[in-house]
Amino acid sequence: MERCQWLFAAAAAMSLFSIGEAIAQEPARLSVRVIIHDSASVPVDVLETARNQTAATFARAGIDLNWSSAGNCRSADDARFCIQVLLRPRDTQSAPGPRRIMGMALAADQLRAVLSLYFDAVTDVARRYGSPRGELLGLALAHEMGHVLLPPPSHSATGIMQASWEGDDIRHVLAGDAAFTDAQVLAMQARLASRR
Ligand SMILES: [Zn+2]
Repeated sequence: MERCQWLFAAAAAMSLFSIGEAIAQEPARLSVRVIIHDSASVPVDVLETARNQTAATFARAGIDLNWSSAGNCRSADDARFCIQVLLRPRDTQSAPGPRRIMGMALAADQLRAVLSLYFDAVTDVARRYGSPRGELLGLALAHEMGHVLLPPPSHSATGIMQASWEGDDIRHVLAGDAAFTDAQVLAMQARLASRR
């Protein structure tokens, strides 16, 4: 009888061990918390399209985005990387001109970042190149999020981290994969995995 109990205990210990091993081996999903503060009164459907565009770009990089529209990163109750997005009507620091800045990464540390997006510039560029505003806003958001998640220099010759956007670039990216390069995906995954 005692022997049976010992065997049972050994079997239970082994199964616990294999469950723990399986958990350790299964790659956990990486995720980023994104809080959008919309002071530009962006139409609901435009913002929804932008979120979907950005989420699809990051999903292809193996990163889930958890959205909210209130709170701040200091109140985050977990150790996930957290980005506050200030969606502003316009960039009051820069004069209007042909080269519009659609967004800017403002600050970042190991766990948190703040970035701005300027809705008048997104609207201007969309109008100039005949692109949907929502998709372009999503592209600008993903690009600025790339800046806070990637080590500098974070621009690349191709993909979503191109330094400047002309009409053909925008059309190509929106028509195909609005993607990070393989090296950028690895760098972001390594950074987020180190936060777990
Ligand atoms: Zn950039």
